[in-house]
Amino acid sequence: MYDLDDFDDGYYDEEEYYEDYGPPKPKAPPQKPKAGGAKAPGPSSMGKGVCQAAPKSAGGARGRAVKAEKARGFPAAPGAGRGFGFTSPSPDEEALSARKDSAGAGPASASAAASAAPARRPLSEYDLEAELVEACFREPGEAPGSLPALSLVVLGHVDAGKSTLMGRLLSETGAVGKERIHRLQRDMGGDGGAEETPWAWVLDERTEERSRGVTVDVASARFSTSRRSVRVLDAPGHRDFVPNAIAGASQADAALLVVDGAIGGFEKGFSAAPGGSLGRGGGQTREHVQLARCLGISQLAVCVTKLDTLGGAGYPGAEAAQERFEAVRQQLEPFLSKAGFRPGTVQWLPASGRTGDNLVCRPAAPELAWFQGPTVADAVDAFKASDRRVEMPFRMPVAEVLPKSRDLGATPAAGRLEAGAVVAGTEVRVAPSGRVVKVKKLQSQGDPRELARAGDAVEIGLLGLEEGELRQGDVLCHPSFPVPVVQRLEARVVTLDIMVPLLRGSEVVVHAHVAAVAGQVTEIRARLDPKTGAVQKERPRCVTRHQAALLVLELERPLCLEKYSDYKGLGRVTLRDGGHTVAVGTVTELLEYE
Ligand code: GDP
Repeated sequence: MYDLDDFDDGYYDEEEYYEDYGPPKPKAPPQKPKAGGAKAPGPSSMGKGVCQAAPKSAGGARGRAVKAEKARGFPAAPGAGRGFGFTSPSPDEEALSARKDSAGAGPASASAAASAAPARRPLSEYDLEAELVEACFREPGEAPGSLPALSLVVLGHVDAGKSTLMGRLLSETGAVGKERIHRLQRDMGGDGGAEETPWAWVLDERTEERSRGVTVDVASARFSTSRRSVRVLDAPGHRDFVPNAIAGASQADAALLVVDGAIGGFEKGFSAAPGGSLGRGGGQTREHVQLARCLGISQLAVCVTKLDTLGGAGYPGAEAAQERFEAVRQQLEPFLSKAGFRPGTVQWLPASGRTGDNLVCRPAAPELAWFQGPTVADAVDAFKASDRRVEMPFRMPVAEVLPKSRDLGATPAAGRLEAGAVVAGTEVRVAPSGRVVKVKKLQSQGDPRELARAGDAVEIGLLGLEEGELRQGDVLCHPSFPVPVVQRLEARVVTLDIMVPLLRGSEVVVHAHVAAVAGQVTEIRARLDPKTGAVQKERPRCVTRHQAALLVLELERPLCLEKYSDYKGLGRVTLRDGGHTVAVGTVTELLEYE
């Protein structure tokens, strides 16, 4: 598959990339020049507004109910219990309903106090402010005594064993105390011999805390290994939650793909048929992998779970467990390779949340003694930590607007810094509203912080913003080097396993970082060679499955975006339609913005 990332994160070297994929930058066809790139609204501008927010997580009470239902042996609604429920609209639906409301809708967070965007200056003119340099100097590398940060997204089909694995890992690394596990066991009504384990409930409890307004950031949990401080991002397995997986993966440095190794389990999660994998009844493994890669994640570990089920009541014997592990690997590896995760770079391991095998310590089960590779904790340690692009102007997409708090004020924002740095007292601009406000206070998981730098996930208290003046999908940015608020853009995309071709006029939901907004394909500028990126055909009538193309997208409401070459995390887009991901790509030109 044509791959959109530049592989500049050290995991692949450039020469290997060229060998495999050819030059990464296709030659763009000639474009209409736009004076200074400044905004020039076309007749088809569809009104203004803020980035459409994805809905907040539904409460964990539902999550618990789902787990309780599972514990009682009822099949839970697939994927229920996380993110949002089937009763609440998905981010795609919200973006589409915003389309209906958009006529005449002004920017919700714009107010009289919004200041006009300064004349756009080249990013190269930016010099990190002296106070930030000093703060970075005082906090070299990481905060004293802390470990390099890593944001990890956990991917996999529903019921693959993600929650169980992560819950147990949190317990074994000491992030969750024994008392809490005992309390969960008691709440489950567990009698010790129950089929269900409390591990899967650990993450759901966090969701419940969030719904009660306890300040935790968008990550569902954190834990530390000997070498990394890890922030876990949820990527629920059901297709209706894929927009949440996009938001999670867009903030991650690495991915852990959990695969059900039980007979039939892997096949179900990996199935393409009937109807294909991409949200049409098949497994989520394929879509998650493709999304993760196209959202820029190049570090992957695959964890095969449930090998203990092969023998009925327990492990089937070393030979059968190894055979199954290898069989899963053989089927998955070519797919991963095609998606851009090359064989030598992916870590493979068996592990079990239920038995605790190979999480932090080498497997206790003699049936897994054949495995000489990494534990889950080793695999995490081997991932490269967050990139820190501190020298760029500040950018932080608001992944969540937290409830009012005494420490952080009326509208605390949680998210991960894409670039730059902030300290308390720094002025930041809220885009798209244009409000310039002061940072009141910074926290990380409730602990005060002096400084937040690119790669850090923090909670930021902002002075002077009222409730409702900040939304998920907004971007906090440098007041003199603001993020472009984009109405029309050119994107280089690859289509996935689509049934209906993309045409001029196709309506899509455009996801970027943690925002989603309705949009339309207004032009297909070129079809590109998926291998080399060279223009194959100018202005084709349509783009079908697994093709690369250069599209122009018109957004119904402006979205904070950057060119991929400037800020990777803000320059990736995912196009969805009818609950399916149709294409993923990168922003190559901003055609209309302010
Ligand atoms: P998720 O939807 O991917 O988060 O999956 P869960 O963690 O909720 O697990 C789904 C079911 O598989 C639960 O009943 C778990 O107890 C069970 N499970 C998870 N991991 C294992 C494992 O390694 N072995 C066995 N036998 N069952 C497991």
